[in-house]
Amino acid sequence: MVIIMLGAPGTGKGTVAGILTSKLGIPQVSTGDIFRKHIKEQTELGKLAESYISKGQLVPDDVTIDLVKNRLKDSDVQNGIILDGFPRTVKQAEELDKILNKEGKKVDIVINLTTPEEEIIERIVNRRVCSNQDCKTIYNLVLNPPKQEGICDKCGHELIQRKDDNVETVKSRLENYFELTSTLVEYYEKQGKIYSALVSKAINKLGEDVAEDIVKYIENLK
Ligand code: ADP
Ligand code: ZN
Repeated sequence: MVIIMLGAPGTGKGTVAGILTSKLGIPQVSTGDIFRKHIKEQTELGKLAESYISKGQLVPDDVTIDLVKNRLKDSDVQNGIILDGFPRTVKQAEELDKILNKEGKKVDIVINLTTPEEEIIERIVNRRVCSNQDCKTIYNLVLNPPKQEGICDKCGHELIQRKDDNVETVKSRLENYFELTSTLVEYYEKQGKIYSALVSKAINKLGEDVAEDIVKYIENLK
C-alpha cells in the first residue's frame, strides 16, 4: 500500500506518519529526514539541500525525485510505504505515478492534513524532535511536552530544535506550500484518493487522534 502524507509544514504529517507506521507496519520515508541526515553528514547532497532548506525553499525537483526513485528500490518498501513530505509539486507527483506504474503499483491513499495558520506557526516554533535518528519522536513544548525538559520520553536522548523551525523560515515554507503543494490536493482529488482531516487544538483533534481515525479507515478498506 502506498500512502502519501500531504499538508502544510506543522500540520502533523510526521507525527501521524509515525503512528501509522507503528500501527500498520508500513515504513515511513520522509524526504525532510533524509535531507537532514545528509546535512548532518555534510555529503554533497546535504550541502546542496541545506542551501535551499535554510532559506525555507524547496529542494529542486530533479534532485528530490532522484532521491525518492532510489529509495523506492530498497527491499523494505516493496510491500508498502508511507511517503511523508513527498510529493510536494505536481512534477514530483507525476514522476511518482510513472515510477509506481512501471512496477504495477499506484498511490492508494493521500492523507491531507489541515490546520489553521495561526496554530501552525505556534506549533512550529514550539516543536522539538528527538536527536536519535532511530527514534525521531516529535514533541511540542505546549501541546505535548516531554516529561523531563529536553529529554526524549521514549529513548532518553536529547531533544533538539530543527534549524528551519523559526518564524522567518516558516513564512516562506508556508508560501511555498500554498503556491506549489496545495495544488496536489486537486491532483489527487480528481483520482478520488484524498482523505482529509483537520488537526487543530480548537476542536481537540491532534495528530494522535487523527491517526487513530485513519487507521480505522484503512482497516475498513481491506
Ligand atoms: P515541513 O513539512 O515541516 O516543512 P519536512 O521535514 O517535510 O518539514 O521538510 C523540510 C524541508 O526539506 C522543506 O522545507 C524543503 O526545503 C525540503 N523538502 C522536503 N521534502 C521535499 C520535497 N518533496 N521537495 C522539495 N523539497 C523538500
Ligand atoms: Zn527518542
